[in-house]
Amino acid sequence: MTAQVIDGNALSRQLRAEVAQRAAALTAQGHPPGLAVILVGDDPASAVYVRNKVKACQDSGVHSVFEKYDASLTEAALLERIAALNADPTIHGILVQMPLPKHIDPHKVIEAIATAKDVDGYSVLSAGELMAGLEGFRPCTPYGCMKLIESTGVSLKGKHAVVIGRSNTVGKPMALLLLQANATVTICHSGTPDLGYHTRQADVVVAAVGRRNTLTGDMVKPGAIVIDVGINRNDEGKLCGDVDFASVSAVASHLTPVPGGVGPMTITMLLVNTLEAAERAARQV
Ligand code: NAP
Repeated sequence: MTAQVIDGNALSRQLRAEVAQRAAALTAQGHPPGLAVILVGDDPASAVYVRNKVKACQDSGVHSVFEKYDASLTEAALLERIAALNADPTIHGILVQMPLPKHIDPHKVIEAIATAKDVDGYSVLSAGELMAGLEGFRPCTPYGCMKLIESTGVSLKGKHAVVIGRSNTVGKPMALLLLQANATVTICHSGTPDLGYHTRQADVVVAAVGRRNTLTGDMVKPGAIVIDVGINRNDEGKLCGDVDFASVSAVASHLTPVPGGVGPMTITMLLVNTLEAAERAARQV
């Protein structure tokens, strides 16, 4: 078997076209959707992520405000800025790029964002809404992974899904979303003694570790769907995921590439969440 490659760029284009249509409709009604993106400091990777997010907004007709601050910005000043954006009716989503400089507590910052504008879905309240099955914002990366799985046309109902990784931003919300879709879910982590024992039983594997070759072909059940969230570099310095693409593609039915799989979907789902926030706000006017 050679796995079908799930094209995250193609799915992103399709979803972003829908976002652009919804943005145009809201703008025509006098409620243009707006996202504020805040970057503190000079981390080069963060600068690239932020640039991509702002460009994605521009391309989709979403108004964006980009605020860049020096690494010396105080926590109090950042919280004050967030309070102002919370009160700004032209802004529907607020994103503070992580990591923040060490003197700023990221938890305080995330919790300062109004829940209605928490389009990253990182706050404790947003996490609680996801756990309770309430309407709220799903964290963008796992939300994008769900869309990639959906695009295969395979129903998750009754399937066994294994998530490798248990971070608050990827692994845990991923497991909850799979559970909501009626999969039976196993979560593995660095303390799992025999990872392959679990993954070999899985109809769906989501790898979110940050270590290349974590999942190899001998650890995958024939016909499984494999979603690779990891971002790593190989010996030649090229981007690669957590999954050994060559050996897994010989066993799996569907597999996401790195790059071009989960990465573009993460930004796309940020746009989707921002549109959702703007539509909710427009309904309340
Ligand atoms: P993280 O916070 O470092 O979490 C990594 C998880 O992997 C932890 O739960 C850890 O277990 C687990 N782990 C580590 N070694 C393991 C092993 N040998 N076997 C099984 N589990 C192991 O990372 P993250 O933020 O979730 O991100 C994971 C990866 O996805 C990174 O490469 C990141 O760059 C990438 N990422 C990509 C996107 C995208 O848009 N494509 C978005 C977000 C993240 P413990 O909890 O026991 O330590």
